[in-house]
Amino acid sequence: MGRKEQILQAIDGKYPGYIPVIPVANTFAAKWSGKPMGAVMGNPQLYAQAMIDCRKHFDYDGLWVNGVGGITAALGQGMTDKFGKKSTNGESVILTRESLNQLHDFKAARDLKPDGMIKAVRMMKEQDPDQPIFTVVSSPASTAAVMMDVGNFYVSMIKDPEFVKDVIRRITEPIVESVKMIADAGVDVIWNPMPTLSGTCISKKLYEEICRESNIYFNEQVRKCGLRLVAHACGKWDDRFDLLFQEGNDGIHVSECNFPEVCQKYGDKVCLMGDIPSVPVMLLGTAEEVYKTAFDNCMAAVPHGTFILSPDCGMPPNVPYENVEAMCKAAKDAADKYESKRSY
Ligand SMILES: [Zn+2]
Repeated sequence: MGRKEQILQAIDGKYPGYIPVIPVANTFAAKWSGKPMGAVMGNPQLYAQAMIDCRKHFDYDGLWVNGVGGITAALGQGMTDKFGKKSTNGESVILTRESLNQLHDFKAARDLKPDGMIKAVRMMKEQDPDQPIFTVVSSPASTAAVMMDVGNFYVSMIKDPEFVKDVIRRITEPIVESVKMIADAGVDVIWNPMPTLSGTCISKKLYEEICRESNIYFNEQVRKCGLRLVAHACGKWDDRFDLLFQEGNDGIHVSECNFPEVCQKYGDKVCLMGDIPSVPVMLLGTAEEVYKTAFDNCMAAVPHGTFILSPDCGMPPNVPYENVEAMCKAAKDAADKYESKRSY
């Protein structure tokens, strides 16, 4: 069995015989390539080469492509934003019910340009074929927060929850269409970051009343496309992990949680990913600190179920190389120790 199959198997809940290490390494790999960040991010070939070469150099797993951006722009370009300006990106344009009616019609094939993504995926499949490809897609509820402006999104949740639900409904199919495009391009895993829906920002009650139904629907649609889905529980989710674990995610990438407790409660239900603090440990810690945190994460998680070691959020571009090496070594050592202790 190849690496890719092993990792997808881990996401599906079967121990793959080792502990995959998959940092969200887009900007890290771009910087590592030594070329100007803007040039790499704007060029699918340079970008894919950076992802492939950096992954091979450190021998972690997973490749990241930029998905089909521009959904918010396709829907809301030209509308007046909260600063009274004509919007170019569709952010902060749905401020009232009236503005909801001004959103443009959407056809993914016409409005999104998947060429860059398709080029990057093709290069990755040629040069690094035994690795799963990940991309970032925000759920309709998270996208609604961006298009409504987060402040307005939160206030409306309390004053006019039906308005928020209507916005989410209106933008759901465009996002699902873009997911189909991503699946057709050959991406394997969708990574859905949800910082704005966390306990850091809204109550569990509001999450349940307004976001939950649409998250369940979105997750179903992603999996219908044959893609695996990893939700990134960014921020505080301790009070609502129970909901998240029921919503049809294949994996949950945690942060800011009591990790051993989460492993005990949910480790057998879903593939867990995390949980090295990205900034205090990965970026600012010593290699020894990274190693210890990473090793402890693995040992806490693996007895309960499948686990992917990763920083608890995107890996910052300036992370010292020895810290990345320490993270990878910890996963190998932990897997050896786990194997030696296993009685079967
Ligand atoms: Zn995060």
